[in-house]
Amino acid sequence: MTTVNTEKEFVIPEKMKAWVLGNPNELSMIEKPIPQPGAAEVLMRIDAIAVCATDLEIISHGLPALIQGGDPFNKNFTPGHEYMGTVVKLGPGVDEFNIGDRVAVEIHAGCGRCERCREGMYTACLNYGMNYGDRNKGHRANGFTTDGGFCEYAVNNINTLVHVPDDMSDEEATLIVTAGTAMYGLDVMGGLIAGQTVVVTGPGPIGLMGVGVAKALGADPVILTGTRDARLEMGKKLGADHIVNVNKEDAVEAIKRITRGKGAHYVLECSGAPNALNEAAKMLNRGGRICLAAFPQKPVPVDVAYLVRNNIYVFGIRGEGKSATHRAAAFMKQKRFDAKLIHTHTFPLTEVPTAIKYARERIDDAIKVVVKITGAK
Ligand SMILES: [Zn+2]
Ligand SMILES: [Zn+2]
Repeated sequence: MTTVNTEKEFVIPEKMKAWVLGNPNELSMIEKPIPQPGAAEVLMRIDAIAVCATDLEIISHGLPALIQGGDPFNKNFTPGHEYMGTVVKLGPGVDEFNIGDRVAVEIHAGCGRCERCREGMYTACLNYGMNYGDRNKGHRANGFTTDGGFCEYAVNNINTLVHVPDDMSDEEATLIVTAGTAMYGLDVMGGLIAGQTVVVTGPGPIGLMGVGVAKALGADPVILTGTRDARLEMGKKLGADHIVNVNKEDAVEAIKRITRGKGAHYVLECSGAPNALNEAAKMLNRGGRICLAAFPQKPVPVDVAYLVRNNIYVFGIRGEGKSATHRAAAFMKQKRFDAKLIHTHTFPLTEVPTAIKYARERIDDAIKVVVKITGAK
């Protein structure tokens, strides 16, 4: 019988520093008790966490966070969901991970008991947020319905963990979940991908990771559209064969030109621009597929007749389902694309509000702002 090394001991204090959300846009640092892992859970020491656009949305407007059945304000709620760290304590019966393992996280642990979870669609769990009061369906979405990672420790379901390779930095590992989201977008569209045309619209973090993942899956060509040259150039480094600045050239015309009139097979829409769906439809060949990974602030008119006449499929994704983070992490481990390129700034835990300000105002062309909490790497 082999013995598992669980000897590595971590001294776990009783309390930790944690940022909590008060009124909209009000964060304060308090001391919180360190949570205890239950069955199928581990306690992680958080080593680094990236700021996501969705964090900014939650901190200002509440949704899509849902705490105790309502908005997340003044509920002692700790936001943040793109974190990684070290396993420091195992819940009862956990043998899938060892103490000392470096792990990155997915956000959603579905309840495991609803129809969607049973289909593997745990990011669309039907018991979303049903984990308060005397009703505990086992659902967690850390940083959305349960405490997130702008703090020192977090409890995670083992299904949300992916091992981080030794030679990957903490900062890069925080990007695994972003790459996983892009991967899931390509997953849900189905199809072959290799040798087919993928257009990524919008060079934000998910779009840029979408370029890397599409390229790693063998898409040919990969085309990135956007408005900022610096971001587009970064897309080139991540694997885009063509970049299109839509301020300088009509996006649909550019795709027609590059594909010699044939149109693309897939569009991964990451811009959230009001006309993005209509434009994406026109970039596609007949029977092509769009995945929406971003959305406009307000409802927008859609040319449904064009979609129907051309048999265009439209998908929407939430998060990083079907274990896409594992596949994305495998690509990053194999260095198929350099996710580190999108990490631009780092701040300590004490400066979370500054980190958020940098991300929100894109100060100094910030893309991914990482808060480094602790850890050796
Ligand atoms: Zn995110
Ligand atoms: Zn479920």
